[in-house]
Amino acid sequence: MLVNSEKHQEMKKIKDEILNLVSSPLYAYRVSENNFPVIGEGSHEAKIMFVGEAPGKNEAKTGKPFCGASGKILDQLLVSANIKREEVYVTNVVKDRPPGNRDPEPVEIDLYGPFLDKQIDIIQPKVIATLGRFSMAYIMKKFALEQDLTVISKIHGKIYKTSASYGELVVIPLFHPAVAVYDRSKLEDMKKDFSILKNFYNETNPQN
Ligand code: URA
Repeated sequence: MLVNSEKHQEMKKIKDEILNLVSSPLYAYRVSENNFPVIGEGSHEAKIMFVGEAPGKNEAKTGKPFCGASGKILDQLLVSANIKREEVYVTNVVKDRPPGNRDPEPVEIDLYGPFLDKQIDIIQPKVIATLGRFSMAYIMKKFALEQDLTVISKIHGKIYKTSASYGELVVIPLFHPAVAVYDRSKLEDMKKDFSILKNFYNETNPQN
């Protein structure tokens, strides 16, 4: 288990490596657009880690995850579950913006996935909440839950117990917040899913 200053150093190494990731198919686009890679944001002591897909336009302009329209929905969902955003960690599988908001390609997921793996080892969350189908597939495969992997509409909000190199881990697949950007009627169902996180959050943050 790393102390906080070591965690910061390790995260900084990840950031530096990604900044110089010239082998990425998304590198030239990032540079030509004056974009930033989006490494992640939040507490390095977080017990809950949210993993999205890839940065969108606003995220790539600021270097911050979920700060655009999807981020507004994520904020609402966190508020509905009484979870403080600064006490969780928010990141993505792919750290650079794919052009035109297209889906990430398998080669991009393969390239950036190991950085997410390192972030998980640094933070050692008790719960990983995936946002959308790409991070759901990546995390469920990584943590030996592949046999349960199916369409997100069937398994959103379910609790999967597994183990990580550092101990017990719970994986909870959630819809991507963008779903409610396009269809507000989904928000209530998404709030229900988020309410499941409340118990884990309160267990690990007893002052709340
Ligand atoms: N969508 C994502 O998956 N991640 C972000 O950071 C923003 C939008």
